[in-house]
Amino acid sequence: MEESKKVIGQQYSNAAMRGELNKLIKDIAKQMRPQAALRIGISENELNKSLSVSLGMNDEINAYADRRGHYIVINGSLMIYYHKMLKVYCATLSVGDKATNHMYKPSIHPERIASIMKKLLAADLENKLLLTKALDGVELNRAQIVVLTRLVHSCECFAVGHEMGHIIISRTKSNIMEMEAAKKIVEEFLEPIKELKDNEKKELLEPWTEEFCADLIGLQLTLSIPEVEPYKHWGNYKSWLCSGAEISRSLDMMMQEYKDRLNNGKLVTFVNTHPHDYLRLQAIRGSQDYIDAKGIPWFGESFSVFSKVIDFVLGIGEK
Ligand SMILES: [Zn+2]
Repeated sequence: MEESKKVIGQQYSNAAMRGELNKLIKDIAKQMRPQAALRIGISENELNKSLSVSLGMNDEINAYADRRGHYIVINGSLMIYYHKMLKVYCATLSVGDKATNHMYKPSIHPERIASIMKKLLAADLENKLLLTKALDGVELNRAQIVVLTRLVHSCECFAVGHEMGHIIISRTKSNIMEMEAAKKIVEEFLEPIKELKDNEKKELLEPWTEEFCADLIGLQLTLSIPEVEPYKHWGNYKSWLCSGAEISRSLDMMMQEYKDRLNNGKLVTFVNTHPHDYLRLQAIRGSQDYIDAKGIPWFGESFSVFSKVIDFVLGIGEK
């Protein structure tokens, strides 16, 4: 009896959570739709009717946009991964709360972090992340929760923006302005690598270029989001949104590194479909040269504001 009660409770909360996540990614896509429609050259209404954005629970794929440009699926477990990892990060922060004029101390000692994060990474690989507690018996304080909510939401925005970038690439007939810059990044990276033959480099060029291009468009779309709820109360909200691009890429990189290490040190040097996350992170950091960041005076600064998260994530990745 006890057992069946528990199962029912879990199913209920999972269903409620799915509903919430589904609504969240649809809302983000809606906020990006005017800019995306403009770039494709159709009306917002036309884009709405011809593009479905939904939540998936297939653990194999983080996020997906079909090559004909008609649907986007964002995996719920990717969002749970971002949430749990950032929760641990936020627990280590001492954050001031202006409303209560109070300074909150970190909820956990940094020494505990590596083992907690490792537990989460392992659980994610076994598809058990949802039921694995990030912080057992530790509560985040009010100010930490505010930071966490914004960081997670910013990561989710970039995940949707990147897939929307693929949609724009598939549906735009004319030249994509970011494509040239994206191609240059790939060529400059591959050129000096002697171990790869010319035909091998050629095979990587197109898919990798598209990924960089989707990142750059994704960031541009993210920054086109108007100052509506929930951003109204965030202060420099575009600064937070910029950080989502960087942080989500770093968390993906951390997962990849973890998998590589489990792989007995056998390094997976190149994946045909996607460039290494580190290279993508660098491209995002240098992206003000490629995307229109006018009107965001703190664009460059926002990346350094959140570089603490990156240092934190990378540091943990090495343990
Ligand atoms: Zn992609």
